[in-house]
Amino acid sequence: MKELTFSTETREAIYKAQNNYCGVEGCTNKIEDFHHKLSNKKDYQRLFPLYLNSPLNCIGLCRNHHQSKEIFKFNINLDLVRVYEKWLENITKQYYKKGYIESENNKE
Ligand SMILES: [Zn+2]
Repeated sequence: MKELTFSTETREAIYKAQNNYCGVEGCTNKIEDFHHKLSNKKDYQRLFPLYLNSPLNCIGLCRNHHQSKEIFKFNINLDLVRVYEKWLENITKQYYKKGYIESENNKE
C-alpha cells in the first residue's frame, strides 16, 4: 500500500535540512507541522503520485505559520509540478532498469 502522506523518512530528512526550525524566513519556532506545497488531495494523488509526498513538496512549519494566511506563499505552480513528476518518473524508470529499486509489482 502506497503511503498517502509524507513518510517518516521524509519528515526526518526535512527536520534535519531545516535544522528543526520553521521554514518561514526569520521564524525561530520549531517545526510542528509538515506542509504540502501542492495540497494532498485525491486528484493530485492520482496525477502526481511520485511528487506529492516527496521531499520536493514538503516544508516544515510551526503551527502558527501553518495556520496563517501567508501559507499561500508556498503554493507551487502546476506546470512546475508536472516537470518534477516527469523527472521523478524518468529517474524511477532508470533505477528500476539498473535494479537499484524493486519494481512496483514486486512490492507487497
Ligand atoms: Zn513559523
